[in-house]
Amino acid sequence: MSLPQPDEKVQVSYVWIDGTGEALRYKTKTVNFEPSHPEELPQWSFDGSSTGQAQGQNSDRYLQPVAMFRDPFKLGKNKLVLCEVYDQDMQPAESNRRKSCMDAMIPVMHHEPWFGMEQEYTLLDVDGQPFGWPKRGFPGPQGPYYCGVGADRVFGRDIEEAHYRACLYAGIDISGTNAEVMPSQWEYQVGPSVGVDLGDHMWMARFLLDRVAEDFGAVVSLHPKPVSGDWNGAGAHINFSTKEMRGEGGLKFITEACEKLAARHKHHIGKYGKNNELRLTGLHETSSMDRFSFGVADRSASVRIPRAVQDAGKGYLEDRRPGSNCDPYAVIEALVRTCLLDEVD
Ligand code: ADP
Ligand code: MN
Ligand code: MN
Ligand code: MN
Ligand code: MN
Repeated sequence: MSLPQPDEKVQVSYVWIDGTGEALRYKTKTVNFEPSHPEELPQWSFDGSSTGQAQGQNSDRYLQPVAMFRDPFKLGKNKLVLCEVYDQDMQPAESNRRKSCMDAMIPVMHHEPWFGMEQEYTLLDVDGQPFGWPKRGFPGPQGPYYCGVGADRVFGRDIEEAHYRACLYAGIDISGTNAEVMPSQWEYQVGPSVGVDLGDHMWMARFLLDRVAEDFGAVVSLHPKPVSGDWNGAGAHINFSTKEMRGEGGLKFITEACEKLAARHKHHIGKYGKNNELRLTGLHETSSMDRFSFGVADRSASVRIPRAVQDAGKGYLEDRRPGSNCDPYAVIEALVRTCLLDEVD
């Protein structure tokens, strides 16, 4: 990889969400210029019958470049480009939740919606066991692992550190990381980002994590409850604010948003990721799936208003319901439709 690269040849990797709505795919092409915007890049196509996105007889699907980042693996002028997927009639594919998210976001941009996501994930060995766990039995009970340090407390530090640096290099709005409560479980935060950018940056951050872990022989799981029993699940808290919430007296708008969310709990749960019922039990710092609640500094509520926000009288709210495998486009679309477009079921 340290061989010189011809100056006029740039490698661009097109990344997209496959038919599972959770996994990513990518392939690379050479272009003869250094793109500075995704719109400068050609549309491309792929075999949708191999990704759960088409039938074999009519398999071509289109890749539309929408967000571009520096490539932390190939370096130089090389790029990573996140793509939306369209079918043969140029309709958004089922896995393309970005299009309708954008439709919801455009009419509310004057509210300046900001989102921050806390992505929890679990590292696995290729055999599916949590990374670094004893092959027979379990590590000691939870307690010492959260934000821990030491070879008996953290598993996969090199992966987490390499991912953080790769995100910074790529140009992702990554704002921090921490080791989580369950050993081999980690979190990184993206944001605050404006509108659909949160989804673009989150999906590319997920891609970078899969790609970094690959080099270490590890697999990233976004399952909301990777190990059953007395082990924390994995979520993706989404923090949300508008210009009004961030301004003087903003707490009033935050409380209003919570009341609108209360009235549409079921709709939101339906958009917040598969298998989330295994995680939202009311235990392990989660709320119950069946009942909406909100409260200040309450980590067992569906929506938490951070203590500092209450003290300042303005800021943001934290929706704690999304599972780690949620599609951020679907979550922020639901938040905007309920809280700003006043949609009801
Ligand atoms: P905690 O673990 O205490 O819930 P974190 O520090 O992990 O909190 O994450 C806080 C998240 O909130 C970050 O993703 C950050 O980008 C986001 N955030 C901070 N301020 C705002 C805001 N005004 N609007 C939206 N998101 C915000
Ligand atoms: Mn071929
Ligand atoms: Mn956090
Ligand atoms: Mn966490
Ligand atoms: Mn949180």
